[in-house]
Amino acid sequence: MEERSIAIDGPAGAGKSTLARMVAGHFGLIYVDTGALYRTVGLYVLESGRDTKDAAAVTEMLHTIKIDMHFDADRRQRMTLNGRDVTDLIRTPQASLAAADVSAMPPVRAFLLSMQREMAIRYDIVMDGRDIGTVVLPKAGLKVFITASPEARAQRRFKELVAKNVPATYEEVLRDILLRDKSDTEREVSPLKVAEGAVVLDTTEKSLEECFLWLCKIIEERFGL
Ligand code: C5P
Repeated sequence: MEERSIAIDGPAGAGKSTLARMVAGHFGLIYVDTGALYRTVGLYVLESGRDTKDAAAVTEMLHTIKIDMHFDADRRQRMTLNGRDVTDLIRTPQASLAAADVSAMPPVRAFLLSMQREMAIRYDIVMDGRDIGTVVLPKAGLKVFITASPEARAQRRFKELVAKNVPATYEEVLRDILLRDKSDTEREVSPLKVAEGAVVLDTTEKSLEECFLWLCKIIEERFGL
């Protein structure tokens, strides 16, 4: 149910997904990563060789794409693209940029909206993205906006990629973050912004543990746990 959902928004690399996953585990909720949906559409366009900025071509491609999001036995989200598991393939910097391009297109956002809302009907969820509190789940019981400086976010993303053996440099990751910030905040449809009633958490100077405890306290207070 939407009122029992937790909506987390914020820019790339602020710590949203790590914190969302942690609180989901702690409170027995399902964590839904909506960026994975945009990344899957982005990957589909990239693999086709078409221009990820070509809105007409991308819109046309939505007729032939079948995206499925499901959860494995460990409650981990897996993505399939026309029947193929692309959970790991969507994590490259190229897929990130492609996701930012296609996410600015209204038909892409409309295409993915019902899938996201359905998740909130089916499960008690923590959902993260850019427009969860503003557009997808405006009646969420708790809305959180998580942010951090671009440099701190790039440093964290870079470490994650290194740990996963994805080839990238810090400069590349920072550039990617700045580009995505620009595209996410300046797009006309569902731009990234703090939702009405959201609590804001700046993680630049805070440890993961501190952020986690802060978030748990707010969740307990808000939902009377
Ligand atoms: O969160 P993640 O970095 O995986 O998201 C990839 C891209 O998808 C973002 O840069 C953003 O452009 C887009 N996105 C979005 N709305 C969401 C989630 C992601 O526009 N709810």
